[in-house]
Amino acid sequence: MINNKKISKFAISIVKDLQEKNFQAFLVGGCVRDLLCGIEPKDFDIATNATPEQIRKIFKASRIIGKRFKLVHVFNRSELIEVATFRSGEDSSSIGNLITDQSGKIIRDNIWGTLEEDTHRRDFTINALFYCPFSQKIEDHNDGMKHIHEKTIVSIGDPQKRFAEDPVRSLRAIRFSNKLNFKINKDIKEAIYDKGHLLSDISNARLFDEFCKIFLKGMAEKNFNKLLSFGLNKYLIETDPEVNEFTYNLMIEAFRNTDKRLANNQSVTPGFLIAALLWPQLIEASLQRGEINLRKFFRSMDRVLRKQQKITAIPRKFHGYIKDIWVLQLKLHSRIGKQPYKTVRHPRFRAAYDFLLIREKVSSNGNYLGSWWTNFQKDGNSIKKSLISKLQEKGIEESFKKFGFSEELR
Ligand code: ATP
Ligand code: MG
Repeated sequence: MINNKKISKFAISIVKDLQEKNFQAFLVGGCVRDLLCGIEPKDFDIATNATPEQIRKIFKASRIIGKRFKLVHVFNRSELIEVATFRSGEDSSSIGNLITDQSGKIIRDNIWGTLEEDTHRRDFTINALFYCPFSQKIEDHNDGMKHIHEKTIVSIGDPQKRFAEDPVRSLRAIRFSNKLNFKINKDIKEAIYDKGHLLSDISNARLFDEFCKIFLKGMAEKNFNKLLSFGLNKYLIETDPEVNEFTYNLMIEAFRNTDKRLANNQSVTPGFLIAALLWPQLIEASLQRGEINLRKFFRSMDRVLRKQQKITAIPRKFHGYIKDIWVLQLKLHSRIGKQPYKTVRHPRFRAAYDFLLIREKVSSNGNYLGSWWTNFQKDGNSIKKSLISKLQEKGIEESFKKFGFSEELR
């Protein structure tokens, strides 16, 4: 039984408005699944037999979006609800709107259908439950309730065919199994192995969305390890974790840090994670005779970003942020004269310092530099000065030349 108090009032009001106009309308998908699993849904989706144009007419604050998949965003001040028209997932390209390419991938899917048809085009049985908050009844045409009780992810229809139609379903299966702690059944596992490679044809924009869902929702480490076990990590991250131990450890530590921040209600950004994940590649590209070559370092930044962009888009607004974090890693090593005062005032100092701590965590050299900066931030001006002058006595400028990246350079 679902407790309506856990559902957005705005979403319920949209269902009500649609039903009052004699349309069918239900809450659907992830929110119903999560409510049944005792998880607080993060958003609420609605399905209806009203067409996008009809929905658009009923709600003043709404707009039609999408091409591959037309739907309506209905919004108020604080919420945005997706309202989608029932679709038939049938392969009826001859009638018009469902278009697939040679590999069977769906390119456009705008054939309206009935509720039952709409359940069949969804990915997994647990995602195909329709809930009416007024009758409090659940429409279940694919044994979704049974699979929720059995804690298993089951594909609707043959997963070999469904995962070829839309390869992103492989990533979704992995993500849901970790999020809900559900098993992936055997034929889905096989389909992931057989069809996972088709992810290379998915647009970088869509894979960036999936990247964020997989790595920025609190389950990054677990998801990464599962992706690795299926060999799918390379479709989301250009860096190969198997090149050396440092790279793997750094990636894991970056994921752990992200998960920990989310658990503590701290903010996370894809920019930080991408900077961390691509760092080993930047170091690799900057090497010259066992040391970091500055010119190569600066020149390689864009190239490293571009390589990742071929897989997952990286929205423009993050580029400057990522490069700042990288360049600041160099500056954090330079602590002479006025430099540390400047560095600490940099708007990205905090992020760069956090990344330094992550690097040092996986390095066997200890946390010397990180704790230096920890002290430098804490203490009053006289201590700041003495921290700097102690360095000068030790002639630490030497270490600036090598940038102290001994771990990364091994
Ligand atoms: P979450 O929001 O936690 O990622 P979700 O199940 O709500 O999970 P959405 O991407 O919001 O995922 O999609 C809403 C619903 O749309 C899903 O529950 C599913 O029924 C359907 N759906 C989404 N993506 C696909 C897909 N690639 N193939 C088939 N059905 C899909
Ligand atoms: Mg959702």
